[in-house]
Amino acid sequence: MRVRPSQAALAGGVALNLLLLLFYWRWGAPPPPSCRGPRAVPGVTVVLFAAESSEVADTLGTSRSFAALPVPVLLVAEVAPYPPVPLPAGVSLLRLRPALEGSPIRPELHVRTRHVAFVPDGARAVPGLLERMRDVLESGGNDGDGNGEQLRVVAAPVGTAPPRCRELRVDARGWTVSYGPAVPLGGSGTSCGALEGPSVLLLRTRDLFSLPLPLAQPAPASLFIQAAARRWRLRVLPAPFPAALRPPLSPHDAWKAADLAQNRHRRLMAELGVKREALADGADRWYGCTKTTPRCFGTVHARTPQYLLAGRWTPPCCLRALRETARHVVAVLEGSGVRYWLEGGTLLGAVRLGDIIPWDYDVDLGIYREDVGKCRWLAAAAAGTPVEDPEGFYWEKAPEGEFYRVHFSRANRLHVDLWPFYARGGTMTKDTWLGHPQDVEFPERFLRPREPLRFGGFTAMGPNSPRSFLELKFGAGAVENPEYPNPAVRRMREDGGPLGGGMGGEGVI
Ligand code: ZN
Ligand code: MG
Repeated sequence: MRVRPSQAALAGGVALNLLLLLFYWRWGAPPPPSCRGPRAVPGVTVVLFAAESSEVADTLGTSRSFAALPVPVLLVAEVAPYPPVPLPAGVSLLRLRPALEGSPIRPELHVRTRHVAFVPDGARAVPGLLERMRDVLESGGNDGDGNGEQLRVVAAPVGTAPPRCRELRVDARGWTVSYGPAVPLGGSGTSCGALEGPSVLLLRTRDLFSLPLPLAQPAPASLFIQAAARRWRLRVLPAPFPAALRPPLSPHDAWKAADLAQNRHRRLMAELGVKREALADGADRWYGCTKTTPRCFGTVHARTPQYLLAGRWTPPCCLRALRETARHVVAVLEGSGVRYWLEGGTLLGAVRLGDIIPWDYDVDLGIYREDVGKCRWLAAAAAGTPVEDPEGFYWEKAPEGEFYRVHFSRANRLHVDLWPFYARGGTMTKDTWLGHPQDVEFPERFLRPREPLRFGGFTAMGPNSPRSFLELKFGAGAVENPEYPNPAVRRMREDGGPLGGGMGGEGVI
């Protein structure tokens, strides 16, 4: 192809322009923002979350009080307050929800000081108290437990109610946080994990922004749990910040506030990957696994559920729903005269610890095939009609072959598998084999008679001589040597053995 002089001139002009543009961008333009942010300066930035229901909030009063100290105040909100309010001097707004046409939200660029203090709505400033908290933090170093825990958060109560502080333990692999009994508060400050009631929380800015969820709400619970997961200690100072005098809430506003707080807490637990809060009085708060929610984990591939690959074990809510399903199925089978027995990994768990193996994802029962017609739900499933029983459990024939499944509910597919066996010349056999090593025939004498075993808080029937039954199925030493269902995909060794710590991943704690 020939190039005419006019075309050459045009190409040259374009190239020159590109060069100029590159030069301007590289040397002439202001530098792009650094990833590290500006160097921190001494001082404390107060972080305050703008309340969602503005009628009962004290956002402006609180921010004005701290801004007058003076310290920089960062007002954090999902979206800008509406109707717009003029912010007092020294107060800046950080919107957490990015705008479609805007830049990404980088909260760490909005805090320039070395320390940051979370202040609840309604607190009032006291000159010098934030500095004292900072000095305690900086002189604390190791908080002296000698087990690698470090003082990283200092708290001071807000208001006159005596603060109550508890031990807090995070078990990421078990999706659980546990609260201990209240720790008696000493005069010079007490070391613990989670403080009840409103409080000011101070920490180093770089510690805060090393957390995966630095600005999650509610800030206290979020910080306590993320700190405990890192073995950071909290020290509570006795000196309180005063609380603003406010008229009592109307019943409706009180209800609204409680509802908002509860929803926020549930959302936080989901973000952190917490399924169970074990309270000090022995009660539990559960997040996940109801009859109307889908199963907490997706389809299991290669007998290795997704949570195992994330270094976690079965969510405790799922274990609970599995136990409930197993108990129900066992009661129905016993009531209708179907002979069943604990099978495979379920029997292994019963013999090993009287419960479901803590990383197992289903329950397996063997049944006599000739007994299927004795149970109306099984008979319906066998006839090809899945059925929801009056207690909401869902019975169906498995699409994979000649066996049955009872789900926790139509929506939540946590399930018990029922494997129909029949005797042939003294050997128990069946028609569907899924190729698992433990999926083998066995002598019928193991079922004559069957033997009651403790399992998940109730009694269920198992084969007699369950140990030899298990060694026949899984090989010698199966009871004593725990291993994941498919060691080719993930081995227990990778997680530090049965007592080792998990590494999180599913949630963030
Ligand atoms: Zn669950
Ligand atoms: Mg199983």
